[in-house]
This record gives sequence, structure tokens and C-alpha cells, in this order.
Amino acid sequence: MSSVLPQHFCVVPFVHFSCKPDGSPRVCCFSQNSYVLNDDGKRSHLSAQSINEIWHSKWMDSFREKMLSQAVPPECKFCHNEEATGKISKRQSENRKYLETSKEIIACAKNQNGKINSPPVYFDLRLGNLCNLKCRTCNPLFSSAWAREVEAHPTNAVLQSYQSTLDQARLSESWHKSPDFWEQFHSIAGSIEEIYLTGGEPMLIKEHFSLLKFFKENDYAKNIYLRYNTNLTLLPEEFLKIAPSFKKISLSCSIDGLKEKNDWLRSPSKWSMIQENFNKTLLLPENVSIDINCTVSIFNVLYFDELFLFFKDIAVRTGRKVEVYPDILHEPEFMQLHLLPDELKTQAIAKLTHLLKQSDLTSSEKKNISSLVKLLEVHNTNQSDLLKQLKNHIVALDKIRNEKFEMIFPELTSLHSN
Ligand code: SF4
Repeated sequence: MSSVLPQHFCVVPFVHFSCKPDGSPRVCCFSQNSYVLNDDGKRSHLSAQSINEIWHSKWMDSFREKMLSQAVPPECKFCHNEEATGKISKRQSENRKYLETSKEIIACAKNQNGKINSPPVYFDLRLGNLCNLKCRTCNPLFSSAWAREVEAHPTNAVLQSYQSTLDQARLSESWHKSPDFWEQFHSIAGSIEEIYLTGGEPMLIKEHFSLLKFFKENDYAKNIYLRYNTNLTLLPEEFLKIAPSFKKISLSCSIDGLKEKNDWLRSPSKWSMIQENFNKTLLLPENVSIDINCTVSIFNVLYFDELFLFFKDIAVRTGRKVEVYPDILHEPEFMQLHLLPDELKTQAIAKLTHLLKQSDLTSSEKKNISSLVKLLEVHNTNQSDLLKQLKNHIVALDKIRNEKFEMIFPELTSLHSN
């Protein structure tokens, strides 16, 4: 089957349902401007339409047809651009997972102008912006705590630059609380293979535990792979009890720094609590895999090696596999790691190059660390406006939160004082 598919083909629109935190469905998290439209040409929304209606909409049918035609869908440029740089794209990794098992679905779409008869088997559910943290690199679209901070400081110019995101943030607050939304999964539970849950903080979405219970009680859990992105501030009992019933669970823990760096970067979380919860994850059964997802920005690239070695050491001591992934920050631009002054970049490159000499790195770890080095090797031209924005951001939030950047990151004082 794959030989008769166009070279650019991607299985995602045939098996995967994805929504943004505000409840609007899209083709996938990598697609650009791929909002699913209803038959009136307006954006679909999960509070107004069912998963079934959206999945079998004319818009989705025509997108599948587009995927089967000879041209690359414009919505998919990002994947193809990534491939051009040598990276494994989402298209390639999802094809590896789902192409072989989806032959019948694809054949059906070919014969029926993009229409398919089966439900999605793989969900990406971004469950609103409910979150108890207000990480420095985040914003109100992904954190209700951030939204509250913006609302509480109507005269602060830095915080008010986020004002335009508040309306969209409000849309994210409640659509996923409706029992009707969760009950839609009951009738298709037998075909579900994978669910990716993020937010906000998915462990705060109580409603999703009822669905997990339904999967367990009706014997579906053993076939389902659950993937979480969690801030690790809470590991609810409901989760700990139900985890062993699932085929596989992946806990991707967002941790950007150790000790006081964590507390500053991911306020108001406390390192002691993160460590305590991390230790609990190490006791989870073997069907649960654990990795650390570190958002790498101008604030922490100089310390990525510390974080990496800290968790690698735990992995060696406990015999538990723990991977550490750098997730490069793209927004806001003024926090991107390439803005680091050249002399600090040299230090960061030296530390990362040293890390690359570790004998026990996996090939993907080597690739990821090398890509950080490559980004740091880009020489800055005049970036004074962005660095000014960065300084204003640090100063404004430090004042509101009663924190002191220069005490936490003494090596980076120049970012704060220039
Ligand atoms: S090619 Fe990439 S952007 Fe397009 S549907 Fe597939 S994964 Fe999504």
C-alpha cells in the first residue's frame, strides 16, 4: 500500500484527532492553520460539535483527499521543513507507528473521496489552560495561574502585553468539564490505541479520571497507551491506583532546572515537592516510562548539563530508564537561547561539548545535545531590543513575585543589569 501513496503522505488525518487547549479541533499539533471548519464554513468547536461530527466533516474528508493527492498540503509545511534539516518529523514518526495498521482505512478513503468509516484511534487532547503554575516561559493561553496574574496587574505594562491572549484563555477554561464530552469516548473505547493528555496540567482535570476508570472497568485499559505531559506538582491517588491497568503509560515531566532554579522558572512550584513526586514515579510499575522534558531557554541552557546528569545519576542508581529531552523554546522570541551573549554561549557550548563525551549517551541524546550546540553557535547580530524586552520581563515579574533573578542565576547577571 505505501508504495502507491504519494511520497509526502502522512497517516495522521486518517487515525488521529487533535484539539487545541481552547477546544478547537485541528489536524495535528504540527499543522499550520488547520482549524477544522464545520459545514457552514465556521471554525468547529468541541462544545458545539461531537468528535464524530468533526471527524467525519466535509473539511476532514477533503483534507484526507488532499493528503492522497500529489501536492504537499500547505498545512503540513512544518513537517517537511523539519525533514529538510535532517530531523525526524512528526509525519515520519507517526507513519512508522500507524501506517502499516491503517491500510484498510486509507484504502477506504481513496475509494470514497476522503470519507472513512472508522473512528480515530489516537487522540491528542489539550485540556484547556487549567494550571497551578505560572512558568516564566509560559503565558495565559496555557496557564490559568498566568491569566490570573495578568488580570491582577492591570497597570503593569509587561503583564498587559499578554492582555490580548486573555479572551482565548477564557475560552479554554470549561469546555472539557462537560460529562457529554467524556462520554463520547465510551462508544469508541474498543478502537482507541493511544491518548496524549496535556494542558494546562492534565492531572488537575478530574473529569478525565472517570474516563480512565471506565477504560479499566470495561477491560479496554490493557489496550491503551496513555501519554501525559505533567508539571509533576501532583500525582493524584486516582492516577497511581489506575496506572498498572494500562498497556503502557508515559509520564513526560516538565522540569527546567534544579532546586532554586526550578522555583524561579516554574513558580510557585517547590523543588522539594517536585523531587518527592519524582521519587514516587520511580516506584510506579514497569508499564510506566518516565522522561524529563526540559524547555531550554536563555535562562537555563547554561545549566542543562547539571539537570541532565542529575537525572542520569538517578537512572543509574535506581536501574530505571529516565531520558532527558531538551525542548527548545520558540516563544517568546526574547527568551530564545540564541540571544545569550557570546561569552556565555562559549561557556554553554563548552559544558555541552563536555556532556557529549559521556560514554553512555544514547544516539538520540547525542543528537539532541548536538542540536543545542548548533543553535548556540549562531552568532548574534544586534539584538538589543529583544534583550531589553527580556530585562523588562525579568524585572517586572521579579517585583510582583518577590523574586531575585540575580541571586538565582549569578552567571547571567548581565542579562538583568545592562
Ligand atoms: S504531515 Fe505533519 S503537519 Fe501534516 S498532518 Fe502529518 S504530522 Fe501533521
